[in-house]
Amino acid sequence: MISRMFSLGRLPFVLCPLLAALVLPAAAAPAPVLAASIKPLQLLAAAITDGVSEPQLVLAAAEDPHHAALRPSQRRALQAADLVLWTGPLLEVPLAEVIAALPVPVVTASELTDVVLLNAGGTPDPHLWLDSRNARAMAVALAATLQQLDPGSATRYGANLQALLASLDQIDARIDETLAPLRQRPWAVSHQAFAYFTRQHGLREPLTLANTANAEPGVRSAVQLNARIAAEGIACLVIEPTESGPELASLLAAPGLHIATADGLGQALAPGAAAYGELLLALGEALRTCLGATHD
Ligand SMILES: [Zn+2]
Repeated sequence: MISRMFSLGRLPFVLCPLLAALVLPAAAAPAPVLAASIKPLQLLAAAITDGVSEPQLVLAAAEDPHHAALRPSQRRALQAADLVLWTGPLLEVPLAEVIAALPVPVVTASELTDVVLLNAGGTPDPHLWLDSRNARAMAVALAATLQQLDPGSATRYGANLQALLASLDQIDARIDETLAPLRQRPWAVSHQAFAYFTRQHGLREPLTLANTANAEPGVRSAVQLNARIAAEGIACLVIEPTESGPELASLLAAPGLHIATADGLGQALAPGAAAYGELLLALGEALRTCLGATHD
């Protein structure tokens, strides 16, 4: 094979494609281009396409999906895809119109039968990827769609799915074991992004600083919050990478409050077969450190 490529390389450039078509076996069709709306879904998809292709990301990792606006390049990325994975119109609102007009298969996580949605003040909580059982349902749907689009790699997608499901079983057990002694600890969150994770691992419902899923923290009065933090004996506040711990700490003025950053979007992770599992493990570890803290 190598020697044939070298000899073709010496032929006049214009003849090469024709010759290649005559003498080389037909090349396999390129793998379908998968576009994932947000980073955690890209990480999950990367486990299924491992060894075949790399999923594209539509909204940048650092973009807040609650307040995203679709840029022309992101619109084009969606339109160039052979398959789209997104949470649904609950979260990636600006993508809805473009996705509705796409002629390609779309996996809408919030509409899958096996995805269980939590209620957040009257509307479904969009952070559904933080329950690994929902992630399993997405992975199963995604693998099936890829197998239809790309039968040549069907075996690989199937094997990747089985490997992901097995690793999630182990990861869930590990997180459960880590957090079990901390289940009754009171805690607070700046933005209620972790309800799925909280429910799956049996943690106490945290006090939420912001009123709704899309509101900025600091909406409630700091005085009221401080009173509740003190009354409930809360020693742990979980914030997101985009928020400033020192700023919140000075706003809250709650002495002894341990502030931990948890990256529910997996912003810092590179896509790869293990990345979605790493997102969950890092979340478990952030909660272990934070919930394990006690008042000074
Ligand atoms: Zn969120």
